[in-house]
Amino acid sequence: MFFVFFIFIIPLSVLLIVLYASRQKTDDEEIPTERLEVCAICHNDFPIKQLIEKEVGLYGRVYCFCGDCVDELYNDFNRQMGINQESN
Ligand SMILES: [Zn+2]
Repeated sequence: MFFVFFIFIIPLSVLLIVLYASRQKTDDEEIPTERLEVCAICHNDFPIKQLIEKEVGLYGRVYCFCGDCVDELYNDFNRQMGINQESN
């Protein structure tokens, strides 16, 4: 009885695992996951469309920057230059 149980259960479970794995694979292909990149300043993940890519340094390493960090850099620069943002 025990042997018969294994004869049926093992192939069935293998078949289910194979079916599940192949289904998961096709699901991944159907729904392309949006590529995420890390902002070089705040280290948060963003979809690549929301980031600006800039080549930095002698070796041309490309870094990504999010809008908030770019804004903050812009504001920091203005503050340092003594430009009053309210007057714009
Ligand atoms: Zn950022």
